[in-house]
Amino acid sequence: MPIETHPLQTTFRPGDPSLLRNKQGRCRKCDKAQTPGEKFRFCKGCNVAIYCSEECQRAHWEHHKPLCQYQQENTAFFQSHPEVIAPTEPGMPNILEMQLYLRDFTEAHRPSFQGLLHAKMLSMGGTKKVLTKENPQVCLIPLKYRPPGPDGVNPALTFSYSNCVMLPRARVLADAAEHRPRFLEAWEKSAESRAHVAATFGNDLDFVDILPVLFAPHHGPAQFGYFPQYSGFEGDGLERPPSREVIAAQLDTYAMFIELGIVLRQPSATAAPIPGYMQKIGDGKKWEWRAMWTNWYSDPEWTRAKTSKDRVRLFKRKLAEAQRREAS
Ligand SMILES: [Zn+2]
Ligand SMILES: [Zn+2]
Repeated sequence: MPIETHPLQTTFRPGDPSLLRNKQGRCRKCDKAQTPGEKFRFCKGCNVAIYCSEECQRAHWEHHKPLCQYQQENTAFFQSHPEVIAPTEPGMPNILEMQLYLRDFTEAHRPSFQGLLHAKMLSMGGTKKVLTKENPQVCLIPLKYRPPGPDGVNPALTFSYSNCVMLPRARVLADAAEHRPRFLEAWEKSAESRAHVAATFGNDLDFVDILPVLFAPHHGPAQFGYFPQYSGFEGDGLERPPSREVIAAQLDTYAMFIELGIVLRQPSATAAPIPGYMQKIGDGKKWEWRAMWTNWYSDPEWTRAKTSKDRVRLFKRKLAEAQRREAS
């Protein structure tokens, strides 16, 4: 199947800078991608924002400062209140550990979440219909913590995903104000960085809005993420809108990637993402991305796999094959 007509391809825009903001991803300021062997730096304050250089980090500081300071206060508060960060159930990691797991998990699966959200928009009638100024939305993604396997903490497998729900933003924030007071503060402090992200897409005619996404594990901390949403591929102009079946297949496929720990990455800035997995390096805590199926969208095996069951089976096999190659 040529790349343009693959159902998943409709949710990816080549070069979309939002796709790869992750450990091996792109600088928050200049959007430069990290190339193999290159080491980007995390902001030492919050340990979340990532930059290609000291120069970019300095230039981004005015946008990043309020959120960074809030995150630092938060961490300091947790560190001085061990009773607050204690695991809510025996065998669970503490809140600070959970925060890091959540950061790495959501960054690893960012392309899959981006695709998932776009498919969700399509299922609701299109981005322009869903994201209006009058009725701002938040997407709630409940997650369930998954204990580590024999290899240790694989950043792509620390949570399992089941569904996502669009909710009125006012309701989500009111709820947060009641149950997680500091959470509302995090929302306010992120205003500057949200505006900066939106401004980055200002010249793109297809850009509609930033969709805030609340990743909410059953236990422990929650986390906001901001995903740019585009119109297009929705029946305007020459494109035909995808059918219900195609949209359902997209939602299923991204859920499968997240569930199996399959991580999508773009091999280059203009190429479509390809599936891979996280591989543990040495005996430490470092994990690196490995491609597992380079030409998947043109592979007849994928085209033949019509049902969700077939696709899951196929991806499990491809993953096992790639891991066997790695081991030998
Ligand atoms: Zn940079
Ligand atoms: Zn920071």
